Amino acid sequence: MQEDTLKELVKNLIQEYNTNSAGIPSINTHSGVFSSVDEAISAAKKAQAEYELMTLETRQKVVNNIRNGMQPLIQEFAKATVEETGMGRVEDKIQKLQLTIDKTPGIEDLHTVVETGDNGMTLYELSAYGVIVAITPSTNAVETLICNSIGMLAAGNAVCFSVHPGAAEVSKKAVEEINKLVYEACGLHNMLVTINKPSIETSKEMMRHPDVSLLVVTGGPGVVHEAMISGKKVIGAGAGNPPSIVDETANISKAAADIVAGASFDNNILCIAEKSVVAVKDIVSSLISEMEKHGAYYVNDEAVIKKMVDLTIAENGQPSRKYIGKDASIILKDVGISVDYDVRIIIMNTPQNHPFVIKEMLMPILPIVTAQNFDEALEVALEVEQNLHHTATMHSQNTGRLNKAAKSIKTSIFVKNGPSFAGLGFGGEGSTTFTIATPTGEGTTTARHFARRRRCVLTDAFSIR
Ligand code: NAD
Repeated sequence: MQEDTLKELVKNLIQEYNTNSAGIPSINTHSGVFSSVDEAISAAKKAQAEYELMTLETRQKVVNNIRNGMQPLIQEFAKATVEETGMGRVEDKIQKLQLTIDKTPGIEDLHTVVETGDNGMTLYELSAYGVIVAITPSTNAVETLICNSIGMLAAGNAVCFSVHPGAAEVSKKAVEEINKLVYEACGLHNMLVTINKPSIETSKEMMRHPDVSLLVVTGGPGVVHEAMISGKKVIGAGAGNPPSIVDETANISKAAADIVAGASFDNNILCIAEKSVVAVKDIVSSLISEMEKHGAYYVNDEAVIKKMVDLTIAENGQPSRKYIGKDASIILKDVGISVDYDVRIIIMNTPQNHPFVIKEMLMPILPIVTAQNFDEALEVALEVEQNLHHTATMHSQNTGRLNKAAKSIKTSIFVKNGPSFAGLGFGGEGSTTFTIATPTGEGTTTARHFARRRRCVLTDAFSIR
């Protein structure tokens, strides 16, 4: 046998086998990480068939175990994600993970509806799809994975994760950890699976696999489009470009604090984060001074803004991966500005058609567009949002205007007088999700969206009114 072939064989064997604490080699298929899509999906299918027969109490145990078992690992995962992806802030990721664990709904989200009458009883129940392929982004890698695991397992499914290659290691580790917790609760391995070397090709292979019933895609426009043409049912959580409207009636100091907090959270890589401000002219300068008080750095020099555009937008016209999710101080340093404090976000005045306004930059850069009045601000915000149906925020004390904007902007999340993350249940009422289904319309997804609605009819009985 050739030396190279032998080396490859040994490498594959090492990958396939783990050694347990007793020193006994055991096949790695219990970790949920497989070398091929077929193996992964077939293991998930087998596990789901057994899971489906288990009680709701067992499912509840699974969810509880994920919450309790992931809790002590939050810091470790936050750190590992920033290290691997090079994006975001550890302290913010800790908060996102905590939110996911605390506020992702479980089986209580699966509401049963009953109709009774002279003809008997009709029951509507939410039952499992089977194996779901969940495609996760690099920007909220572990949050999405935990959030999808809780919701999809609560609804009775098994999940095959297609993770972003740029967050592969931390995502695989999360799959392994959650799988252990699921096993402890219900005795089943491989309720969550993924593959060792994720790529665009393996992601496409998963999307077209015959044993997959539903695709839940969290990512940019490319992957959502790819899923839509697969011929399968898709829940698509795509890109956003959330504007924040501020009118002259707003509490300017609070609006400034909220906008800086929302837009700078995890260095703006959240899809829901404020990507631009559209402010009415009378209050623009006071808004800027208030934002400065809350950690924003105001750039007032056109040459510096131009330099920042050249630096952060690549030749292909897309935001440069090098700066996505990086700290504001790094971007400032690279345009020749050094600061001696922790800048949360860089702000500047721009026209409406500026690339920073139009593109989803995913960086701590926040352009401010001036409008003559509220009606113009709303018009600009609608254009900036680009009908992505994602997120918008507004700061105003005028309920008529808030109502008008809420009705016309048609986003999945609309936050009034708060930071964008209030729309994820962080400081706002309601549960959380990291999969906001925008093009397909489910909005803030929870367990019920990962279930099939079935109608079960019994004639001539069980109407006892
Ligand atoms: P991305 O689109 O580059 O990748 C997302 C996932 O899709 C990854 O797992 C990737 O491997 C896969 N993928 C990418 N292109 C593919 C293709 N052509 N075929 C098959 N698979 C493909 O996104 P990202 O940079 O990791 O995340 C940021 C983007 O995701 C932003 O646009 C953001 O707005 C969006 N996002 C949306 C939500 C939401 O809930 N709506 C949440 C998080 C992120």
